[in-house]
Amino acid sequence: MKDLRNLTKEQLMELAIKLGDKAFRGKQLYEWITKGVSSFDEMTNMPTSFKQKLADSSYLDNYKILEHHVAKDGTIKALGALHDGNIVESVFMTYKHGNSACISTQVGCKMKCTFCASTLNGVVRSLTAGEYLGQLYALQKLTGKRINNVVLMGSGEPLDNYEASVRFIKMACDEEGLNISGRNITLSTCGLVPEIMKLADEKLQITLAISLHNPFQEERAEIMPITRRYGIKALIEAVDYYIKQTGRRVTFEYALIDGINDSNLHAEQLGVLLRGKLVHINLIPVNAVKEKAYRPTQNDKIYGFKSLLMDKYNINTTVRRELGSDINAACGQLRNSKL
Ligand code: SAH
Repeated sequence: MKDLRNLTKEQLMELAIKLGDKAFRGKQLYEWITKGVSSFDEMTNMPTSFKQKLADSSYLDNYKILEHHVAKDGTIKALGALHDGNIVESVFMTYKHGNSACISTQVGCKMKCTFCASTLNGVVRSLTAGEYLGQLYALQKLTGKRINNVVLMGSGEPLDNYEASVRFIKMACDEEGLNISGRNITLSTCGLVPEIMKLADEKLQITLAISLHNPFQEERAEIMPITRRYGIKALIEAVDYYIKQTGRRVTFEYALIDGINDSNLHAEQLGVLLRGKLVHINLIPVNAVKEKAYRPTQNDKIYGFKSLLMDKYNINTTVRRELGSDINAACGQLRNSKL
């Protein structure tokens, strides 16, 4: 069975011809899909016979929201089933500048970062680009609001699912489709160096975010095992290359964990590592994951850390407002099971 949401307009036009209809039928189909319909019945301008043929060989609804929770701040966490019954989570957030969705790229994750819930049971499979889009359609339908900002920061490592991530970005930016601006899409990675280089050459206008969390090689390897494969030095070189190729400012994410990575020494080393580069640092007090004992850094210390980076190293640094933590919808709290 074909997942129609994974097909481009051109591929849908070919499909329409293959099913004995005209190319324009494929265009109509694309319009319906990008409007977010989840059943063939909703496609009111299509002949029943064509819809029947479609239904015999393909499906539409690749992400069905099973339950959703609304946080005090309005953030919504949705738990949805993929076509094969696997479950992933996605999150809808409202900001001053619009509506954001945080979507999953894999069922689970294999990167084994010690502070993250998504990786507790390993990876089951990667999602298709159509399943990335399906999460957006479902969230738009649930809320009745248009999403104009997307972060690939749900469960999974987007660069461990490279082809689908790039395909998704291209499809989401299609002016005839969701028409999301590339600048409003953020891809976050724990640091897969070869894929960062490859992505740099695609010259997409997206924002690349690097989950750094520790500027010292040995210490980072303790909390992020990927560091043993791709060290910090190689990672920074890849980021330099990314900046050179795309001209885009890169974001570094740094989850502050009490007593682990929040000393002055860490801030200094982070400053040394990133000063003078076209980057921005996002500090995030680490979120609780019930299986882990990590605690977030206290506020005054967070602001001290920030001041040092700003004042001494002249690096643009912000503290991220965490949304949805009371419903386990914040960074590092998403998983592939019901709790
Ligand atoms: N695999 C990708 C994207 C998913 S995680 C990546 O590693 O970037 C999205 C962000 O949440 C990453 O920066 C990740 O390091 C961060 N994160 C994970 N667990 C967290 C936690 N418990 N508290 C705060 N941020 C966390």
